[in-house]
Amino acid sequence: MKRWVGYSPTQQEMSALSELYKEITDCQQCDLFKYRTKAVPGEGAENAEIMFIGEAPGWHEDQQGRPFVGPAGQYLDNLLATINLKREQVYITNVVKSRPPGNRDPLPAEISACREWLDRQIEIICPKMIVTLGRYSMVMFFSGKSISRIHGTAQKRDNIIYYAMYHPAAALHQQSLRRVIEEDMLKIPTLLAQMESVTEAKEEPQQLSMFEV
Ligand code: URA
Repeated sequence: MKRWVGYSPTQQEMSALSELYKEITDCQQCDLFKYRTKAVPGEGAENAEIMFIGEAPGWHEDQQGRPFVGPAGQYLDNLLATINLKREQVYITNVVKSRPPGNRDPLPAEISACREWLDRQIEIICPKMIVTLGRYSMVMFFSGKSISRIHGTAQKRDNIIYYAMYHPAAALHQQSLRRVIEEDMLKIPTLLAQMESVTEAKEEPQQLSMFEV
């Protein structure tokens, strides 16, 4: 495991990510490749401590090949600024790497076809904290939970903090969620600072009691 003050990624890790991007760009494991303009693998710091995982690229992302560059992305940038982070300092990706036509929800087969890419990104980046944005990424790490119950709470497993948040687009469409998502973002620095003192969840994942809502 890497991760420490002054850590910078090795040449090998950087090329592992570049190689992965190439594979994702060429991927035809589900039908989404037929509709995409550009695949959207993800972007950010190879040595990021925090990885944000959204749902799927939308129109803007599909055009640019970059995650979270439309209105939801601008809001995510603003949320990051509230904890003094720029997007270049974190890693941002999605559950699926190609835009579902018409921005429909990703299908189970599309999610499982893309799972390998996400697993490899996590392996390469080795983040201290994984932040799920919205339901689709939440269910990958918090099975059987509901976002309205667990947003703003975290679990530590295998030395990674998993933290669930609402999707920024949901907060853009639903004014009442804005304060919730903004408060949840503000908890991240404390969680990271305290992660060493937090015990690992055992069989049935537990929430970190000090951050339960
Ligand atoms: N919504 C997502 O879930 N991901 C993006 O990249 C953009 C919007």
